[in-house]
Amino acid sequence: MRRMINWFCKCGHIEPDVMADESDIRICSSCHVAMQQDWLPRVRRDAQWDDNTAVLVHVTNDPSVPADARVRYVGSHDAKLKPGYERRYLRSLREVEKFEREQNVRSEMAWYDKGTARGFDDEVFGNKVTH
Ligand SMILES: [Zn+2]
Repeated sequence: MRRMINWFCKCGHIEPDVMADESDIRICSSCHVAMQQDWLPRVRRDAQWDDNTAVLVHVTNDPSVPADARVRYVGSHDAKLKPGYERRYLRSLREVEKFEREQNVRSEMAWYDKGTARGFDDEVFGNKVTH
C-alpha cells in the first residue's frame, strides 16, 4: 500500500512527505543505514480530519477483555466491529493525544513502525486483523 510517509533515521535525518510502499527501503544519505518509515506524519499536524483521514480505533470497556486488547487500531474504515467494541474516530492531533493519554498507548500509536517498517493497518498488538 503506497501512502505518504516521512523517512526518518536514528541519526536525525528526515525526508518528509514521500510516497512509499510498506516494503520500500531507503538508505540514509547521511549515515548510510536503512531508514525507517513514519507513516503517520499527519498525526503531528494540527487539523481536523474527516472520516476518511481520521484515525479509527475500535474500543471496548469489557473487563473480560485483556487490557492490551481493548483498543484495536484498524487501518481500514470498513473493518468489522467485534461484538462489544465501538468505533471511535480521532479527528485531530489533540484528540489523538488525549486518547493516547487515556489509553496509555502512545508508543504503539506514534511509533508503530519502529523496527518493523509496518503500519498499524494490518497488525494490532501482534494480532492479525481480518478485514
Ligand atoms: Zn542517518
